[in-house]
Amino acid sequence: MDQKFNYTLKIKDKITYINIIGIIDEDNNLEEIGERVGTGTVLLNLSNVERINSCGVRDWVNWLTKIESKGAKVVLLECSPAIVAQINLVSNFISKSLIQSFYAPYYCANCDKEKVLLIESSTMKNVETPSAPISRCDDCDGVMEFDDMEESYFAFLQNSNLGPLPEGLPEGWEEMLNVESTLTSDKKVKTRERTIRSKNSQPSLMSSLPGSLPSSSLPSLPSSSLPSLPGTRDSKSGTFSSLPSFPSQDHAMGQKNGSGKENSSSTQGKQQTLLLGMVSLLFLVVIIILVVVLFKLM
Ligand SMILES: [Zn+2]
Repeated sequence: MDQKFNYTLKIKDKITYINIIGIIDEDNNLEEIGERVGTGTVLLNLSNVERINSCGVRDWVNWLTKIESKGAKVVLLECSPAIVAQINLVSNFISKSLIQSFYAPYYCANCDKEKVLLIESSTMKNVETPSAPISRCDDCDGVMEFDDMEESYFAFLQNSNLGPLPEGLPEGWEEMLNVESTLTSDKKVKTRERTIRSKNSQPSLMSSLPGSLPSSSLPSLPSSSLPSLPGTRDSKSGTFSSLPSFPSQDHAMGQKNGSGKENSSSTQGKQQTLLLGMVSLLFLVVIIILVVVLFKLM
């Protein structure tokens, strides 16, 4: 899925159509795009931006302010979740541009599938506490869960310019922009299989490997020690794999210590009785010698 920075740019009737694809990092061509952007309406399709790093953010913000100062009126369409995250994080990320639509991520635990739903931002304008619209799974038709924190994901709606598309766009503008979906239908979704880092894969790994002893010793946890884990079960993959090893180690250590103590105390006891026996035997021998010596002296 990951793809380095790529773009398409078309200009027709004073409207600039830009489609940015892949990763925005230090190897971007934003400057090149900026040189070609004219004044007037700039439609920017961001649905295929997978990722953006700190260098990318810096270049992006500089680029956007620059083309705006040249007279470009930028409209952002289909902002990907990666873009939404940056809009929420970086206060001037979108500068003066207008957000026309954005994607929201969903997840079906039943099918282990994720999906992004396209939302027209004007439908969430002036909503006090925006919440994720209900989205149903394409496969099982169950209600999908929103795959982020609603409050933080939709926070940008409060202080961004949200709006409809500029009026008077020529017919066929969608093709110029390579937008995958028009906003006139309800089927504004892109689906993709969830990757391996899914929430379900770790616990299933745990149950599928009982008894075996990999170095992490995670799956070898006996059921008795599981009650100490529930907090980590729901946490995301990164912390998950590291956390349970602590209780398991503790457990192993505890077991070792316990049995060790038992062992040493029992051997100590044996040693003590042995020592006691030897001492009393020695004592007896000494007494016998003393008696013999005394007897000879007499
Ligand atoms: Zn489903």
